Amino acid sequence: MHKYGAHIFHTNNKKVWAYITQFAEFNRFTNSPIANYHGELYSLPFNMYTFNKMWGVVTPEEAAAKIEEQKKAAGITEPGNLEEQAISLVGTDIYEKLIKGYTEKQWGRPCRELPAFIIKRLPVRLTYDNNYFNALYQGIPMSGYTKMMGKLLEGIEVRLSTDYLENKERLDSLAEKIIYTGPVDAYFGYRLGTLEYRSVRFETEVLDEPNFQGNAAVNYTDRETPWIRIIEHKWFEFGRDDQGGELEKTVISREYSSEWKKGDEPYYPVNDEKNGRLYAQYKELADREERVLFGGHLGEYKYYDMDAVIASALDRAEAELEGRR
Ligand code: UDP
Repeated sequence: MHKYGAHIFHTNNKKVWAYITQFAEFNRFTNSPIANYHGELYSLPFNMYTFNKMWGVVTPEEAAAKIEEQKKAAGITEPGNLEEQAISLVGTDIYEKLIKGYTEKQWGRPCRELPAFIIKRLPVRLTYDNNYFNALYQGIPMSGYTKMMGKLLEGIEVRLSTDYLENKERLDSLAEKIIYTGPVDAYFGYRLGTLEYRSVRFETEVLDEPNFQGNAAVNYTDRETPWIRIIEHKWFEFGRDDQGGELEKTVISREYSSEWKKGDEPYYPVNDEKNGRLYAQYKELADREERVLFGGHLGEYKYYDMDAVIASALDRAEAELEGRR
């Protein structure tokens, strides 16, 4: 079971794929989540199955016309925020039923105050294709992420349960260069203020039934359901079927999103304007730390996918080894 939520690995980057598959074999899982809006089910990402269910349209031309009509009626020319971006991509009906509630639950902020790029992560397709990612390579490490990380760190000394910031001086004396992947504001003792993060909480249950939802991920896109999605772990594994036997039970996790506070695990940076400005100030401080490289989700305050983190780490490592910065 993934302790930190779904984490479906996907990439178009051949170098990243070649790198990561040295440490794990990946299964052939393809993410095709379902959206549940007050019991109405829709296919994700937004594609012809979604448009057909929403409007009864059958051809790509009819779907495109419907989207165009709704975009025109909303009067959007240059999308300036997530709401406008979403409506101009898929129209108002889909925005209202499949985007607004989910996004506001996930980010705890109105869609009009969120940056447009968040929704651009999702493909919009005029084909009957439920594959959530536009990626050449996709899957889940068959023995799990913990084993994969174990292999990646083989032969390297690792100290767990050791707070770097609390033991900074002693640990810094061990190395010439330090790679810091914790929250950038924590590194500087929050001296310019606190950056905002979203945290995630999972409620996991073992159920006495073989098949709870028939799919690995179901998003609850209405505003009223308190969780944002439910994952049913067994469906991440290839070759499972829903017939009794050893599979008479199932494990599900409900995912709840909340505003991060000190002591919680930070998950997502909130990349709105206010936090962007504060991060830029921290970045200036970070650039002046000669021995320290700041990387990753928290170190760079960036909504990074796993493959993008690896690509960036490989680039940084190459640059360091070649002696440039
Ligand atoms: N999103 C949405 N409805 C959905 C799924 C995603 O509106 O059913 C939007 C939402 O704004 C969300 C973004 O797409 O913040 C990215 O969602 P995804 O689930 O891909 O993000 P993850 O949490 O997996 O990084």
